[in-house]
Amino acid sequence: MKRNIENILLPPPIHWVGNGFRVHGFFPDRKGAVDYKRLSPFFLLDYASLYNFPPSDISRGVGSHPHRGIETVTVAFKGKVAHEDSVGNKGVIGENDVQWMTAAGGILHKEFLETDFNNRGGNMQMAQIWVNLPAKYKMSQPKYQDLLFQNASKFISDNQKVHVNIIAGEYKGIAGKADTFSPINIYDISLKEGSKIDFNIDENHNLGFLIIDGNIKINDNASADKDKFVIFENEGNEVEVYANSDSKILLLSGEPIDEPIVPYGPFVMNTREEIYAAIEDFNSGKFGYLE
Ligand code: MN
Repeated sequence: MKRNIENILLPPPIHWVGNGFRVHGFFPDRKGAVDYKRLSPFFLLDYASLYNFPPSDISRGVGSHPHRGIETVTVAFKGKVAHEDSVGNKGVIGENDVQWMTAAGGILHKEFLETDFNNRGGNMQMAQIWVNLPAKYKMSQPKYQDLLFQNASKFISDNQKVHVNIIAGEYKGIAGKADTFSPINIYDISLKEGSKIDFNIDENHNLGFLIIDGNIKINDNASADKDKFVIFENEGNEVEVYANSDSKILLLSGEPIDEPIVPYGPFVMNTREEIYAAIEDFNSGKFGYLE
């Protein structure tokens, strides 16, 4: 049975995260259209649509800040993003690479345009997803996974027109490299004009497509183009996509975490008491040190 489209979201107005990330905050939607459980376990999606940064000598990004209770997954489509955290992990990602940062019990990190890229300037396009953690893993050890495109698990169609970078989960029996705490699929999909791809996604998974580029037809009955986010209903499991032009899609699917959510800025916990504890632990230096 086909899984129908519930909604095609237009990109919300731009806001800046620090001075380096010019993003459309697709969800959670403060007006409530897509609340913070609709795409669970995905809590937040910030999408930096294509933007040309002029050369600069001044560092751009967001300085040292905490997280607890989530993972931040950053996918670069254009440009280069650097990460540094209080556990000592560092990484730089470029085109089609992924940084998978598990904050869990608490971390400080900074995220910025990689220095050479920032100095030279250039096109930037990226997405950051916050993956909520099941309560039992919220206070586990922080970790960091650098998921470079060159090492990624890939599906390539016989006619070479369909490329799927399986970041997390599984596609047609090929497993992605990311370690996850709950069942998730994240695919970075490139389609040549005139090509087709089909998906079979568990009915109990929430499902959305972020369209990075091009124009696609979904299930033969609706078209959507770049910078939109498509939310699917939770009935049926088959989705067919036809590329009206060369296209790129970030597919997100996951089994919802059926637990209360109490968010406060960079912390996503289950109770208010846990939020108070997060603030206190942050203020008393328990998240470590990062200049
Ligand atoms: Mn962050």
